[in-house]
Amino acid sequence: MCGIIGYTGGAQAAPKLLNGLKRLDYRGYDSSGIAVLERGKITVVKAEGKVAVLDKKTDFGNALRGTVGIGHTRWATHGAPSDANAHPHASNDGRFAIVHNGIIENFFELKQTLAASGCVFSSETDSEVIVHLIETLYNGDMLATLVKAERELKGSYAVGILCADAPNTIYAIRKDNPLMIGINGKNGENFIASDVAAALEYTHEFVLLGDGEIAAVSPAEVAFYDADGKPITKEPYTVKWNIEQAEKGGYPHFMIKEIHEQPRALTDTVRQRIKRDGSIDLDGIELTPEYIASLDGIDIIGCGSAYHAGIVGKYFIEKHARIRVNCELASEYIYSDPITGANRLTLIISQSGETADTLAALRLAKKRGSRTIAVVNVVESAIAREADGVLYTHAGPEIAVATTKGYTTQIAALYLIGLKAARIKGAITNERYSALIKELLSVSDKVSAMLAPAEIEQMLALAKKYSKNHCAFFIGRGADYAASLEGALKLKEISYIHAEAYAAGELKHGTISLIEEGTVTLALVTQSALYPKMESNIKSVSSRKGTVIAVASPENAKISSASDKVIILPECDDDIAPILAAVALQLFAYYVADCRKCDIDKPRNLAKSVTVE
Ligand code: GLU
Repeated sequence: MCGIIGYTGGAQAAPKLLNGLKRLDYRGYDSSGIAVLERGKITVVKAEGKVAVLDKKTDFGNALRGTVGIGHTRWATHGAPSDANAHPHASNDGRFAIVHNGIIENFFELKQTLAASGCVFSSETDSEVIVHLIETLYNGDMLATLVKAERELKGSYAVGILCADAPNTIYAIRKDNPLMIGINGKNGENFIASDVAAALEYTHEFVLLGDGEIAAVSPAEVAFYDADGKPITKEPYTVKWNIEQAEKGGYPHFMIKEIHEQPRALTDTVRQRIKRDGSIDLDGIELTPEYIASLDGIDIIGCGSAYHAGIVGKYFIEKHARIRVNCELASEYIYSDPITGANRLTLIISQSGETADTLAALRLAKKRGSRTIAVVNVVESAIAREADGVLYTHAGPEIAVATTKGYTTQIAALYLIGLKAARIKGAITNERYSALIKELLSVSDKVSAMLAPAEIEQMLALAKKYSKNHCAFFIGRGADYAASLEGALKLKEISYIHAEAYAAGELKHGTISLIEEGTVTLALVTQSALYPKMESNIKSVSSRKGTVIAVASPENAKISSASDKVIILPECDDDIAPILAAVALQLFAYYVADCRKCDIDKPRNLAKSVTVE
């Protein structure tokens, strides 16, 4: 999820690697490291904190000799940020070193097998299994070894590998995480990079490694192989971006880049926790039938979008687990003299894990005897450390201030907790449980479909049409109401258009007086059982000459006859729709803000991580 750079050529590798790592600085990371190979010996240096620490440890790279090497910036997913958990990881015989981006989903099983066969592990990471696996499978033929290794690995990975027997060579494998080869034949040097920004200073020619493919990169040659080890040819392409464009992956803003990263973020959050038999493993958070039965209710606490994710979670958990859920803003909870204790579970939601109000709420809930489980993106953040249990969202670093992938992965994490509780309690039928598991596993494909160029074009046209409006309403019922809250916030945050979310049934109790010709209302229509009610609410808007943009599931597409415009989401279960609706509303807000030429990634007066009360 963070960064990889590799160098092989005529120059000393370490300074080039450090330089490449600094180019990846913009992504945010918690530790870094490099490994260099010279005369059959691999030297590894790694450090928690900024690359500057590594600079110091290696005398700006001058302390390490060798013309081939790999480097890494880590965004921890498994194991705290620390020197030991930083990459590269070396094999026990010191003859292999690897750097890895992504998540090895079956690392636990692999670790058990490898440890039983004598491998000694020196980190808590999932990644370390890769190097021990390679060491164990190696029979003198690196290509054959990597073919076999890839068959064992499950999850997402971009891996750079050094082998002491292969002077001047970096091997690379990848699945579902980006990795490219930077070609600089003129200078007799080649690179591997997770992100073109890392090597753009040296070359603009890149080859994207495909899923399951293998590359052997040396100064004179780059050889590519398919998953069976058969040679393949791949053509380089020229990257015309400058460094700043490259950091954003060619997108104009981090926010839209992060919107597009949601399929991977959702996969990483969900897939590894759903076992083959369909059961859910919440990273060791124990929820026993006795504990669930003892609960009088759940409090979900967060701020901003995290609070909205909590409301989506509330609808889901109440519906399926039949446990009463109370959703609270952290800043209100802490001064409300909350009634809590051992019979209430407190779910604490925060992307950064450092949100001051939320941290204060966590401490108060704990003090009053409630068990706390955090849903957090940043490993070992304050909230993650202090909670009794933590479920990481694995969204990867989020740079844009307005959250996108952070939010949708929070919903996915809450759904996992809800489904687990529902199963334990016996409140859900096997059929319904299996159907929802299937839906969760396929949600990232549906989000991908929404990000196809034709869909984006449509959204852009819609945004253009309404970008000059001064206000907007977002309405929905049930889970659609929860999704409306986030849709309105997204539009307000980045486009500065005042937006208000309303439970659709509440419209007639006040807000309808504000509807006049041209007032735009985004109406969410994904909850089929509530369709007739929504239809009436929509009609009451249009009969006052308001403009209605409906966001509907295919099952409710007939709402188009009552709306000015309809955005149809991919086919999905009603309970999963809030994730897809969120993506649609993120895109709408983004393109409206873009038309209005707003500072999208850094909206005025807002900060990414709010560490003051
Ligand atoms: N899952 C790995 C770890 O926690 C890799 C994280 C990354 O992509 O930086 O070490």
